[in-house]
Amino acid sequence: MDFELTESQRMITNAAREIATEFGPEYWRKKEEKHEFGSEFWKAICDAGFLGIVIPEEYGGSGNGATDLFIAMENLAGYGCGMAGAWYLILSEVFGGLSILKHGTAEQKKKYLPALAKGDIEFCMALTEPNAGTNTLNISTTARKEGNNWIINGNKTFISGADRAQGMLIIARTSPCGSKGSKTSGLSLFLADLPNKAVEIEPIAKHAVNYSHSCTVTFNDLKLPENALMPPLDGGWHNVLDTLNPERMSFSALGVGIAHLAIRKAVEYARERKVFNNVPIGSYQALQFPLAESYSCLEAARLLNLQASVAYDAGKPSAEVGAAANMAKAIVVEHAIKAVYWAMQVYGGYGYAVEYDVERWWREINLIRLAPVTQQMTLAYIGERILGLPKSYQA
Ligand SMILES: Cc1cc2nc3c(=O)[nH]c(=O)nc-3n(C[C@H](O)[C@H](O)[C@H](O)COP(=O)(O)OP(=O)(O)OC[C@H]3O[C@@H](n4cnc5c(N)ncnc54)[C@H](O)[C@@H]3O)c2cc1C
Repeated sequence: MDFELTESQRMITNAAREIATEFGPEYWRKKEEKHEFGSEFWKAICDAGFLGIVIPEEYGGSGNGATDLFIAMENLAGYGCGMAGAWYLILSEVFGGLSILKHGTAEQKKKYLPALAKGDIEFCMALTEPNAGTNTLNISTTARKEGNNWIINGNKTFISGADRAQGMLIIARTSPCGSKGSKTSGLSLFLADLPNKAVEIEPIAKHAVNYSHSCTVTFNDLKLPENALMPPLDGGWHNVLDTLNPERMSFSALGVGIAHLAIRKAVEYARERKVFNNVPIGSYQALQFPLAESYSCLEAARLLNLQASVAYDAGKPSAEVGAAANMAKAIVVEHAIKAVYWAMQVYGGYGYAVEYDVERWWREINLIRLAPVTQQMTLAYIGERILGLPKSYQA
């Protein structure tokens, strides 16, 4: 067991901190206010090679693995970018890069991976549906075969980055639920090129993270070539877990990052601000202890998340990866939200002012209890799959 960072991880850490310092809170405050994509930041992470961290050298990346990607996300988020530090990387490198790398055909890898590694294309993932929600097996978007084409119809919601992306991972039903044996069979994965006039995309007005739009997506007889299927037909559920687990780990990494950023700023403020008896407010244990408690719990969760990502990189079964990834996320949700809550408290009324940024981090951090998986479903996973308790609901 070795807790030391590798040489490449140290380089990624330093590069991420430099970029995050250049594109810090003030930059993202403006992008959030204007609902504008961070194109200068995007160029910086492309130039630093961050879009190719998981993509093998033969496709133009550095082939370093998901652990290195999460280290980049945590440091970008933690040294100034907040959620933005990981958001674009999740869309393009997890939904695009990792999913295609793990399960794409040779032809699909050749087509997408070099462009993803350079940042020449952006990606998104269309999984969530208005009527299925968390119950993914209940999705009703269908893909049917017509000659040599696939025809896709259905509605998706909250699809982040769909309005800008040139590529989309679509999860659709190719056979009725349960008709192919197991309950999880009948779902398939497809890769679609965008824009396409058969795909209607409408941004949803939302609470935060407005430097990227999350959209409703409607497929009206979207015609895709036969080779758009990411095999196997009807067996997409198990393969999509290889995208959903790293998505979870990404959210844990960025949650730790945002919490560290908020704690660091709060500590700076608490050391200076004096209200009674000419002593800094940071000396009051009512403020100090909750920050100390969350900081410690987040360190534990960070290590658990690294354990999950190392298992993922080693190709361990998704159940083993999922166990560590879900436990890490459960702790991060609890303590990153608490940490930002207490950072805001430290700032008193100024915590409510836009110029101190903590109110934006508060809006951002609250997303992690809702997406990519809600805290209840994470706890249900731990209760059922790790503790072996009975399931109270059916798909
Ligand atoms: C900003 C944002 C960006 C997103 N980006 C994407 C994206 O890019 N691609 C994508 O596919 N999706 C995306 N999502 C969707 C996200 O993954 C879902 O919103 C999330 O999985 C929850 O689904 P839901 O909103 O339908 O909640 P529901 O499933 O309707 O759940 C509602 C509530 O009921 C609770 N609940 C449901 N079932 C149970 C149960 N069995 N036991 C206990 N409690 C339960 C939930 O925990 C939750 O509190 C995004 C969402 C947001 C908000």
